Amino acid sequence: DVPDIATPWRTQAIMNQFDIATKKSLGQNFLTDTQILAKIVTAADVQEDDNVIEIGPGIGALTEQLARKAGQVVALEIDERLIPVLDHTLAPYKNVTVLQEDVLKVNLKQMVMDNFNNPERPLKLVANLPYYITTAILMQVLQADLKFDNIVVMMQKEVADRLSAAPGTKDYGSLTLAVQYRMQAHLAFTVSRTSFIPSPNVDSAIVSLTPRKPLSVQPTSEGQLFSLFKIGFAMRRKTLWNNLITGFGKSDTMKEKLRLALTNAQIDPKIRAERLTLEDFITLQNALAQAGV
Ligand code: SAM
Repeated sequence: DVPDIATPWRTQAIMNQFDIATKKSLGQNFLTDTQILAKIVTAADVQEDDNVIEIGPGIGALTEQLARKAGQVVALEIDERLIPVLDHTLAPYKNVTVLQEDVLKVNLKQMVMDNFNNPERPLKLVANLPYYITTAILMQVLQADLKFDNIVVMMQKEVADRLSAAPGTKDYGSLTLAVQYRMQAHLAFTVSRTSFIPSPNVDSAIVSLTPRKPLSVQPTSEGQLFSLFKIGFAMRRKTLWNNLITGFGKSDTMKEKLRLALTNAQIDPKIRAERLTLEDFITLQNALAQAGV
């Protein structure tokens, strides 16, 4: 049996052996809690025929646990210093491929096609994300043309709260809608700062994203829908009307189109966007397109 990478003593020993100091600029906080890792792998329900993508393997703490359960794991790590470390720590696991890549620059669909032996098998994404780019990574992953069985990711707790927020709450916003448009988000559990080396200065949580049930309405333009999420919440304290004219334009003809769209969508211009459900936003997008916005 190979000892776990993720114990505090082994993590420290590996970092000493390779003379690695963690880089704050890359969001490097390594998990050193095997119980948390076990809970993450359980939350993702990793099975032996699963293809698993990991973003940011670090020194391999989570990668190793995934490799023991999954069919195949492909891990993307930006930091070139960690590649020889991962070659060493993950040597016992023949089903792991480590790629030195910036996840924000990679074509994920192509990556899946090129690196998994059976790309049609169930696909999961499991990661302890680099927190400085959590939102950008989520958007990249959700916009990739890939069907994930689930996505189980650790992030700062305040972002986790936004993903799983309900309409009318302070955490509900454009990020909530962009994520919930594609997936159902559930905050699985929170993780103590002491579970990492070094300790992050924010609280952390695991979010589980699963395919959502079909929507009752469909947008005629996803691009316009996503713009509408941003425009609606551009200034949270302002009315929907104020945000719409700021976002789309204040000319008389534009105001006329916006008024018509709101009437047809049966949405009160004086409410705030935080009161609108995802379906309301989609209905409004349809009405805007219909009115020629
Ligand atoms: N998975 C490891 C663990 O749980 O101990 C490390 C997690 S650490 C929070 C985030 C990892 O993401 C680091 O290894 C960091 O180098 C890597 N990373 C940061 N930016 C990245 C990027 N743009 N693309 C790929 N990996 C990145």
